[in-house]
Amino acid sequence: MDPMTFEAMRAAFVNCSRSQLKALPPPPGLADLDWPNLDYLGWRDPKAPRRAYLVAPHGADVVGLALRAPQGSGRRKGSAMCALCASVRTTSEVDLFVAPRAGSAGRAHNTVGTYICTDLACSLYVRGLRELDLPQGERLPVPARVARLTERLAAFVARAVQN
Ligand SMILES: [Zn+2]
Repeated sequence: MDPMTFEAMRAAFVNCSRSQLKALPPPPGLADLDWPNLDYLGWRDPKAPRRAYLVAPHGADVVGLALRAPQGSGRRKGSAMCALCASVRTTSEVDLFVAPRAGSAGRAHNTVGTYICTDLACSLYVRGLRELDLPQGERLPVPARVARLTERLAAFVARAVQN
């Protein structure tokens, strides 16, 4: 991603109310983010752990999405796969994130959902910049994993923004 300011991020959100935007918490460590290695920027709300925010390229634009993790985590055993980065993780490390769709669809309570790494750090996992605990069956080279992540991310964002 290209570096952006918090003000620019806030202006990019398409699926939340003005009051939600006013309460938008800044992403932690904003001044020191490794932008070139981020396919998207995601962060949790420290005051509301079920809320998360995702900012991602969308065509020539950038789109921000407010997400909820209604399911919570840590209750099930076994492993799960992130639908964006395809990392195999414990079930407590993958959440079903739901985003209200943009515009009138969202106001009619239409949502889109997908399974994403709880820490929203997919970009780091596909590049091997953060270690995964579970063994991965994957042997794809990094560029192919990055390409798959950006493709799946674009598809998720497109589902949320299209009316
Ligand atoms: Zn992931």
